[in-house]
This record gives sequence, C-alpha cells and structure tokens, in this order.
Amino acid sequence: MKLEPVIGLEIHVQLKTESKMFCSCPNHGDIEAPNINICPTCTGQPGTMPNINAKAVEMGMLISYALGGEVAGVSKFDRKNYFYPDLPKGYQISQFDLPISQHGKLTIRLNEGREGEREFSVGITRLHLEEDAAKLLHIEGGDGKSSLVDFNRAGTPLAEIVTEPDLRSPEEAKAFLQELRLIMRYLGVSDADMERGQLRCDANISLREIPDDPKNENWSTQFNPKTEIKNLNSFRSVERALEFEIKRQTKLWLDGQIPSILATRGWDDTRGVTVEQRTKEDSSDYRYFPEPDLPPMDLTEMRDRLSRMVPELPEARRRRFIEQYGLARSDARTFCDQPDLANYAEQVFSELEVWAKSVQTAGGQELTPERAAKLVSGWVLTKLNGVLSTHKLDLETMKVDPENMAELLTMVHNNQVTGTNALLILEEMVLTGIDPSQVMKEKNLGQMDDIDALREAAQQAIANNPKAVEDWRGGKTTAVQFLVGQVMKITRGKAPPEEARRILEEELGKL
Ligand SMILES: [Zn+2]
Repeated sequence: MKLEPVIGLEIHVQLKTESKMFCSCPNHGDIEAPNINICPTCTGQPGTMPNINAKAVEMGMLISYALGGEVAGVSKFDRKNYFYPDLPKGYQISQFDLPISQHGKLTIRLNEGREGEREFSVGITRLHLEEDAAKLLHIEGGDGKSSLVDFNRAGTPLAEIVTEPDLRSPEEAKAFLQELRLIMRYLGVSDADMERGQLRCDANISLREIPDDPKNENWSTQFNPKTEIKNLNSFRSVERALEFEIKRQTKLWLDGQIPSILATRGWDDTRGVTVEQRTKEDSSDYRYFPEPDLPPMDLTEMRDRLSRMVPELPEARRRRFIEQYGLARSDARTFCDQPDLANYAEQVFSELEVWAKSVQTAGGQELTPERAAKLVSGWVLTKLNGVLSTHKLDLETMKVDPENMAELLTMVHNNQVTGTNALLILEEMVLTGIDPSQVMKEKNLGQMDDIDALREAAQQAIANNPKAVEDWRGGKTTAVQFLVGQVMKITRGKAPPEEARRILEEELGKL
C-alpha cells in the first residue's frame, strides 16, 4: 500500500495597522502592560458599535492581489457565535460567504540552485478578515483555578488565508509558509513573526492511497476525513507535527483503522507529539449570520487602486537579481529573503558602477558584471555578514554606507589591497564609518607594488624555513603555499598572493 499525505493550511496573519479592526484603539499587540489599549467596543460592552478599519481592508486586498486572488466586488462581515472567556461579545466578527477574495495561487520553488530543485503550486481557497480574540494569562504559581484576561489583543485585525489541500509533504508546507511570511514583509502588512504570534498556522492532514495506476482512476480529487493540528508556533513545529502525524496516521491505515471522522489535535512541542483535543464542529455550529451593525462593503472602486499598489514580490525580485546583476540563484535567494540586505546590495551595485567607471577612466581594470556579482556576493553576503555577527551588529547599527562599500570593492578589484587586509579595513569601517582609502592609508594596509621589497621578503621566507624548502625539493608542492603564507606574515598581509607565489617559485628555482 502506497500512501500519500494531503495537507492544507489555515493561516492567520496579524495586520500591522495603526488601530484595531473595529475601534480606534492603538494596535500595538501585547508589547504594553495588560488592558491598556482597550475601549467599550473591543471589550464587548452592550450598546457599542463597530467601525470598519479601511486600512485593514486595503491590506487584505493587497495580500489577495499578491496571492493572485479574485477580489470580491461586494464583501461583508458576519458573526461567528461561540463562547470562550477570551471572546467578550460571545461572537467574533468574521466573514462567512462573501470573503475579501477567493481562488488565488502561489507558486513555490524548492531547493533552488541545489539538488532536488522543483516547483509546486498551492491554490488559495479564500482570504477573509476578522478580529483577534483577547489573551488568557495562566499565572504561574497562582491558585491554579483562575486565569487573567488581557484585552489588548482583542480586536486586532487578522487576515485568514485558507489553502487548498495541495501540499504533499511537511517540507512543502514549511517552504510555503516561509514564502508567505516573506510576501507579508514585502507588502509591509505584517512582520509575520511566528514566534510572536503574528503569523499563526493550523495544518490539516489526511492520507490517501495511491492506486497502482494513478492515471486510470479518478482518485486525485478524493480526500479522506482530515485531522486539524493546532498550536503550531514555529516553522520547525509545523514540519515536526506533520511528520509525526504522517507516521501516526500511516500506522492507523496499516492497522486497518483508517481515520473516518474530522478530528482536532494539539501539538506538544516539548514531547514532540500531537494530542487529541476534540472532534471538530461543523460550520453550522457557529450559527453564522450577517453582522447587523456593519453594512456590506462595495470594493469595486478600491480594486483598481489596490491592484496597482502591489510592490515587486520576492520571486520577481529574485528573478531580477539573477537577470540584472548576474547573481547565482542561491545568492539571489539569500539576498531577497532579507529585504534590508537586498536593498543594501542594490545600492552597492549602483555605487559600484559609478566607482568602476571613474577608476576605468583613470586607467584601472574593467569591471565586468560577472566580477561585480562575485564581489558583491562575496563581500556583502559572506564577509560583511561575518564581521557583523562577530561584533553583534546588523545593517542598521553598522556604519558602512553603500558608497564606501563599493569603494572598498573597487580597491579589491584593482589589487590596491589584498583580500586579507581588505577584511581588516572592512572591520574598521563597520565600527567607525571611516572610508576605506583613509583606513588603508592610516593603517598602512595598501598592497605592495614594490617588486624589490617583495623579492626580499621571499628570500627571507626561504632563508627562515629550510624545512619547507626541503619539502619543496622532495616534490611537495604545498610547501610553496606555506611559504606564501610566510611572505604574507613578513609583509603584514600586504603582498599580493599571486605575485608572491610567482617570485617564490623563481627564487626556489635558483637554489
Ligand atoms: Zn477598542
């Protein structure tokens, strides 16, 4: 029996609006003391009236367009009735039959530039808006019988995104969520940090049997009752919970106990298991009905404006980085996964062009696009990131502006400084913001162009290391590399390595 996992996701994204979904309370999440940002509306007092936050509707539409959805002409809010201590009204204002959008699609590339590279698409069933609930605080060391409620979160705008059951592995689910998070950041609608509850995900999973000859049967639309997994608050937990559930359900299938009803299970991250919670209510259990205090929204005019406001999205930017700058796929992905870093790299590329032109006019070496791509990925992605993590800094707190970075890269390109010393200069630049030519002059780190001095250093390295010379005579070619290192030491990193090697080999040949 060959089984295949069928996975769909329900994602809640907290929108970064100034105020809450239906009142004018600040929407600061839970960074403040409990019950500061509250009013009669978001605490569900009788007689209060909700007001639709237009900004939240715009954000919902923006996400819809980014996910290729069809935005509704008319959309409305409904009451979803249930009782829970974190829901003061006894109902949540959500959307039932006329959501903001339906029928979207997101295409994901997996393992880009690596083995196993492939593409898959995930249908987006719908996107609707709703309000978040309050937060229950179970105080540690309390009497164990009572909990506290913080209403700061009550009424925070949420976009709920429901996917089709198009995912076929935990790996695909994780990749989809990561791309979705990035899209939210590119749109500026949410920081979508899972650990902070700004992006929450429930995963639905069932298994089905793949027939011996899949082509001949109409099996691809046949699904079995699903199990919903809740309480997934990191990408890692989504992946682990789905892996666990595949194993658990496979065993049930093999034992002849195929799951026959919808079920809800919670993920216990510490124990690494899912735990049965309850069988799921039908949607009718919520007694949805139109929210009588809010008129339906006519979105036809907003559609034109919002569809034009979608910025360049991560995948389009990756393509452009590859085409415009000649970057390798994996480098383009690393840059574009961090919008700030991608912006910085774009500025460095543009400054580099200016520097390269002026240097070339002065008789320097031509800087080809391939060389520029290598310099930027090598120095911004690898070396700059390394220096930043050593000093616990980031792009915002470090002091190298794109112009100075480009100047340093031009110096490296023109062999004015060796790679080793360029790294020392970069470190100084990160900490002080001084431009690279000045650091080079002050610290005397420029590359040696005095051939006689270089030859002297080579002779000294040979004289000081008879063992290496012996090895070289014995045919051990790596001995030259050791001697290059010695020349670098003698010249304090200022010798151009290629040139030093050439002279060393000349001098060794004379022996
Ligand atoms: Zn309020």
